[in-house]
Amino acid sequence: MRGRLFFLLLTFFTSPISAEEPPVAIALHGGAGTIERARMTPEQAMAYSRFLDEAIVEGHRQLKAGAVGLDVVVNIIQRMEDSPLFNAGRGAVYTWEGHHELDASIMHGAELDAGAVAGVTTVKSPIALARAVMERSPHVMLASRGAEQFAAEQGFEGVPEDYFDTERRQKALEAYKRARQAGLSPKPDYKFGTVGVAVLDTMGNLVAGTSTGGMTGKRWGRIGDAPVIGAGTYANNASCAVSATGHGEYFIRHTVARDVCARMELAGESLSQAADEVVNKTLVKAGGDGGIIAVDAKGNVALTFNTPGMYRASINASGEKVVGIFGDD
Ligand code: ASP
Repeated sequence: MRGRLFFLLLTFFTSPISAEEPPVAIALHGGAGTIERARMTPEQAMAYSRFLDEAIVEGHRQLKAGAVGLDVVVNIIQRMEDSPLFNAGRGAVYTWEGHHELDASIMHGAELDAGAVAGVTTVKSPIALARAVMERSPHVMLASRGAEQFAAEQGFEGVPEDYFDTERRQKALEAYKRARQAGLSPKPDYKFGTVGVAVLDTMGNLVAGTSTGGMTGKRWGRIGDAPVIGAGTYANNASCAVSATGHGEYFIRHTVARDVCARMELAGESLSQAADEVVNKTLVKAGGDGGIIAVDAKGNVALTFNTPGMYRASINASGEKVVGIFGDD
């Protein structure tokens, strides 16, 4: 990553890492895609970078204070789900029929516990529901009506579907439909906007989570990679925790999140090597746009993408902070 001062801030926290203090690390993304300076006002870019900065600092503070990784992943993702800036929770993209169908997943690297929901329409926080599937059901993935029923039984806050509405995503659907009707095959809102967080907590646990509205104009109950364990999300204490964003079909076919961890476990690659191989070689060759954020057991982080930009932030075990939006940040 090249350094541009405005959005890439390198900060060395004052408290040095001591032998008694276990390492912590956190990385997050708010989606990858055609995120370019020319397509954004400075005010918009500032709103994103400020949000990312505050979120990463808060997540890091919680980890330092000894919070468990699961809580931090859920807290920070909920912050992003509640913000209309991102394609998750409020601000989720529209389906072809003008609805919102939300997907999320979470995984804990100690025992490989995982939970996921797909195609939910009235659950305010899909990531919290994914965690409940992991902790309070015998299953890993629940979908649509059944997932909603489980949410109601678990006392989850329901919201009317218009809670997720935003004008910006409505316009994206209209543009998508116009292009389709003109016989073009548009790349659907290539700013993606899925959110994800990966952490190493003070207990040495790696946890990752991802939440999304999917892709603009999706139909027929399409489900992307975000709720698919091994594709959009993966965590294993033996290697790394990964959350992905991008064109989900490619991420499913190439089991992207698991592949990064598997390369570390089986081929002895470093986190950055593994991330680079999968995102910049395997996916590029296949034509799959997107990126990943990841944390390993030593607290190294990777923020790797093959698109013009990715909303991203991290603080590694040495306390180095990175916040970026564009490719050259
Ligand atoms: N990966 C998501 C999906 O395919 C989209 C995104 O990352 O924004 O559903």
